[in-house]
Parts: sequence; structure tokens; C-alpha cells
Amino acid sequence: MYKPTVAVVGRPNVGKSTLFNRIIGERKAIVEDSPGVTRDRLYAEGDWLNYTFNLIDTGGIEIKDEPFQQQIKMQAEIAILEADVILMIVNGRDGVTSDDLFVARILQKSKKPVVLAVNKIDNYEMRSEIYEFYQLGLGEPWPVSGSHGLGLGDALDEVVQHFKSLETEVEEDPSVKVSLIGRPNVGKSSLVNAILGEERVIVSDIAGTTRDAVDTAYTYEDQPFTLIDTAGMRKRGKVYEATEKYSVLRATRAIERSDVVLVVLNGEEGIREQDKRIAGLAHEAGRAIIIVVNKWDAVEKDEKTMREFELEIRSNFQYLDYAPITFVSAMTKVRLKTLFPLIQEAYASSHMRVKSSTLNEVLVDSVSMNPTPTDSTGRRLSIYYGTQVSVGPPTFVLFVNDVELMHFSYRRYIENQLRKAFDFTGTPIHIITRKRN
Ligand code: GDP
Ligand code: GDP
Repeated sequence: MYKPTVAVVGRPNVGKSTLFNRIIGERKAIVEDSPGVTRDRLYAEGDWLNYTFNLIDTGGIEIKDEPFQQQIKMQAEIAILEADVILMIVNGRDGVTSDDLFVARILQKSKKPVVLAVNKIDNYEMRSEIYEFYQLGLGEPWPVSGSHGLGLGDALDEVVQHFKSLETEVEEDPSVKVSLIGRPNVGKSSLVNAILGEERVIVSDIAGTTRDAVDTAYTYEDQPFTLIDTAGMRKRGKVYEATEKYSVLRATRAIERSDVVLVVLNGEEGIREQDKRIAGLAHEAGRAIIIVVNKWDAVEKDEKTMREFELEIRSNFQYLDYAPITFVSAMTKVRLKTLFPLIQEAYASSHMRVKSSTLNEVLVDSVSMNPTPTDSTGRRLSIYYGTQVSVGPPTFVLFVNDVELMHFSYRRYIENQLRKAFDFTGTPIHIITRKRN
């Protein structure tokens, strides 16, 4: 099912962060009495009625050294680009300000639906403060109080009203979604172009909406794929495209929509901290992953260089031991042909289903080769039965006598045994333990 995105916009200090936290239902971000406070998160999942949606707090995306008006303009533009519905927040205690009018005018020009919430209406008597906000031209103002948790339900009802029209617009798409993520300049755009330019790839017309304008549909060996280009947006030359927070947000959103993620590294520059952070996002999301070392043409090398780089990747990305590595060049097209089989294999692995009978044979053999651990009182872990509950990534539930007895190292051992028995190349696997009732 399509998961809509809501972006929260407004001037600093109107209460965006407070409302964001209310909606995601956790009090995680730090709220202080000063504008531009540090935020823990600017992207999270929210629920209202029967809807689950993504929520972006655009107030958390800042570019240093830009003037104030430039900042709020940028935040509004990001909201327009990323969101299906925009939740504009104003401060009922300040009345309409020229900055509110400035933001409202930018939003009006877009075709995106906007819901206007007047915050800091902490009691019933204050409700008359909302009427002057009609002049923003964004429709009915909804009184809310982020700190007291008032009125938010009515505003969210209005937000989800807009979701209803989205559902009919977006149809299920059976293609395998592939994205490329990585630091700026590693060669993502060049790779996208090179991949789409391969002779056996048939690029079809871009399906769908403007929101997905950077997606490209193609067919390879009769299998439909969609390539999600996270870099394409940046090429429009907007200043904020280069901010780290926005590129992390874009990567997170691309990963969420992907089945297979190509983590692109720059062979010429080697591994940086930011590479690890970006790869970590894909791993945590449970996506199938291929590590692509680009610009291999520009690397001075002998017969040991590739092996050495591989070892360096393995030691820097230990949690990605399941991800295959390929060394390519978007420029000379060297080994580009390896990408398609790797993508197909990783997708197949992440969607493999193991029969319960086979799985339990492997579990019994594993336990007989390496007995389950005991705790300090001598109580031993018993694994009664295992079953696969989902794919993308393959997720297994093991029914045990006591979940506390399953140590990290034994879980790791079981994972390795499963990987020996079945080909899970390119995909993480999840193992969940449950106490048997
Ligand atoms: P942001 O900069 O727009 O994200 O604003 P914050 O969420 O950081 O809030 C700014 C200040 O307004 C903080 O001191 C909040 O405690 C306060 N605040 C937020 N919502 C309300 C509200 O509904 N009523 C009142 N009285 N204060 C609020
Ligand atoms: P992105 O920011 O990750 O999308 O990177 P781009 O695709 O824009 O590439 C950044 C720069 O690296 C450009 O100047 C490209 O020409 C260059 N580049 C990309 N791929 C290769 C490659 O395989 N070899 C070499 N030598 N340069 C490359």
C-alpha cells in the first residue's frame, strides 16, 4: 500500500518540533526555548486513524550561513518536493507575520494540499485568535496546542482526508526497485546513466506521477525494474541539495522504497565516515545490498589492489558481510555487466522462502554440532521449532524456552548455519526469538 508523506513547515519556534513529536507519539527530540533547537530526528513514521504515513520536520533541515528567509524558503521547497500533504504551522500568539505570508505564498504556488494549524492555542478562550489566519489563503485554520496535545485530531483528520485521493492515483507496481546511494560525487548519476545505457536494458516511459519523476522503469531479461535516482534531484542545482541532512533524508526515503540498494563507494578516494553512515541506513532497513566500488578506472593498481580494497571494505563494513562487492567504472563501463546478475541474485535471496521442514532440519543439525548455551545457573537454551515469517529480508522466528538464553554469539552461529544451508547472498536475514507458550 502507498505510504503518504506529510511535511511540517513554518517559521522557527512556532512549535513544529513539538507537534512532530506529538504526532510520532514519542518525546524524542529535544525541545528548548530557543529557535533552531537541536532535533534528534527529522523523519519518522506517524499513524492516524487507519493511515500510516511518513512525517518530515523540515525545521530540522538547516543550511549554515544562509539568511533566515532563505532557510524558510528552502524548507518550504523541500516540503513541496517531498510531501503529499503539507502541514503548515503558525503561532497563534504572534498573529500573522510577514514570514508566515512569505511561506504561505510559496506553498500556494505549488499544487500540494496544505493544512494550516494555528499552534499555542492552549485553551478554549484563545480560539478567536485563529480567524486572522484566513488571510494566509490556505483555507480553514485549525487551532492546536502542541504542548497540551489539543486539537491535533481535527487537524490530522483534515490531513488524512487528502490521503484518500492519493490512493486511487497510485497503483501497485510489481517491478523490483533498485536505488543507488552514496556520498556526493561518488558517481551515482554517472552509474544510473551507464546502467540505463547498457545494450540489453530496455528503458520504458517513466511511469506514474511527478513525485516519482526521478524514477526510471526498465526491463532486463524480461524482468521489470525501477531505478530510483537519489542524485538526480541534486542536479537541479538547488543549494540545499548538498546539505548533509537533506541528502541523508533523501537516501533514507530511497532506501525505504527499494528492494535492492547499491551502496556506491569512490574507488579513487577510498572509504569515508559518511560512507559507513549511509550503508548503515540500508542495512538497518533490512534491504538487499550490493557494494559498488566506482571509478575503478582511476585507481592505480596491480594484481593485489582489488583484494586489498575488498579486505578494507570487509573490515570497515563488518555488518555487511553478506553484501557482494563489485569494482566498476561508469566511465569506461568496466564490469558494469556484473551489476544486473548481482541485483537479480540479491533480490532472489531477499525474497527466498524456506520450507519449515527444511529449516528445522538445519536447526537440529546446527544444535547437534554446537550445543546451545547455558546461563550461570546451568539452564540451557532449547530451540523447539523455527519458521520463516516474512521476506525482504527473510525473517525467521525461533520458538525457544527462554529468549534471554539466546546469546548474541549463538544467534550469529545460527545465522551462519542458515547462510551455509541456503543462498542468502546480498541480503540480511533477521532472526527473532519467541518464548513458546
Ligand atoms: P520549532 O522551532 O517550530 O520546531 O518550535 P519548537 O517545537 O521547538 O517549540 C518552540 C517553543 O514553543 C518551545 O519552547 C515549546 O515548548 C513552545 N511550544 C510548542 N508548542 C506549544 C503550545 O502548544 N503552547 C505553548 N504555550 N507553547 C508551545
Ligand atoms: P554523484 O554525485 O554521486 O551523482 O556523482 P556524479 O555521477 O555526478 O559524478 C561525479 C564526478 O565523478 C563527475 O565528474 C563524473 O564525471 C566522475 N565520475 C563518475 N564516474 C566515474 C568513473 O567511473 N570514473 C571516473 N574517472 N570518473 C567518474
